[in-house]
Amino acid sequence: MTINCDTLIIGGGPAGLTAGIYSVRSGLDTILIEKGILGGQVVTTAEVENYPGFPDMIQGPELIERIQNQALRFGLKIKTMCEASKIEIKDHMFHTYINDGGNDTIISRTLILATGNMPKRLGAPNEERLTGRGVSYCATCDGALYRNREIAVIGGGDSALTEALFLTNFASKISLIHRRDKFRGEKILAERVLAHPKINVIWNTVVTDIKGDEFTEGVSIKNVLTGQESLLNVDGVFIFAGLSPNTQLIKNSPHLAGILTEDNYIITEKNCKTKIEGLYAAGDVRTDNFRQIVVACSDGATAAWDAYHYIDHSTTK
Ligand code: NAP
Repeated sequence: MTINCDTLIIGGGPAGLTAGIYSVRSGLDTILIEKGILGGQVVTTAEVENYPGFPDMIQGPELIERIQNQALRFGLKIKTMCEASKIEIKDHMFHTYINDGGNDTIISRTLILATGNMPKRLGAPNEERLTGRGVSYCATCDGALYRNREIAVIGGGDSALTEALFLTNFASKISLIHRRDKFRGEKILAERVLAHPKINVIWNTVVTDIKGDEFTEGVSIKNVLTGQESLLNVDGVFIFAGLSPNTQLIKNSPHLAGILTEDNYIITEKNCKTKIEGLYAAGDVRTDNFRQIVVACSDGATAAWDAYHYIDHSTTK
């Protein structure tokens, strides 16, 4: 089946949903597809403290639900569990092939890529094997499993700091393992982490192995300055070693060649435009972006606004 629309948005995080709100309010027939559930990284974020308008913080899933309801109220058509497999451009129209039960195609005049990113793997031995068996990338999803147990958190960015603080609600002790002697994350979070009685920071240290047969039992760690190795007994390991962009779809689409950086982010110009007319990128998947929810929303609004003017201009030409 072929479905036609003015604007197709791929990705249902804050960038995509906000693009949807702005696009439908401009009167464009707009569809948003999301390969999983809505929310992107935000839905796995326990507490969002820096999104304006919520002075007492808001939980990530609740923020997404609110944005989703807002988008639905204006008439955004949302299809979840719907994955795009390939994009082609024919006569200035985007043909997006979707695996939505059948082999459907969505033909749109503009396309906004808001596919976000996913947690990076640490690359430690046994990490893959023990994922879901003590190794986790999502404190909101798995934190409650570690009530009164000892765990390790890996990383020194905002995610590691925010999620380590959240995990203090459950764990009895948290070893926060960071490969340097300074956090990358926000100062306010670093201060809270350092002051928290349940968190012990292990500086200048990397994880060399994750131990356990059926379930995680510990991590082998190595001090990068002294070379000293030791074993830390923990029941859970939460890894926050950064994010990598979801751009496999673009790699599968020869018509979109040349829009990725070497590290697979989408190159954009002014107003979130790519070098291909009518094609936009918004949010974390875009290169050189300050990766924050508020910025993703801003990108979504900007891309939708420019897409509207692009369609309006090509219609009245
Ligand atoms: P990030 O800022 O890239 O930090 C990743 C951390 O993992 C860094 O501390 C890095 O160490 C460490 N790391 C990377 N690879 C590693 C490896 N192989 N072994 C050990 N450690 C490794 O990632 P993030 O914390 O997920 O944040 C991603 C983006 O989302 C950032 O822009 C962040 O500001 C944003 N974010 C914001 C908030 C908030 O505003 N509250 C919350 C979450 C995320 P180095 O420091 O040595 O590189």
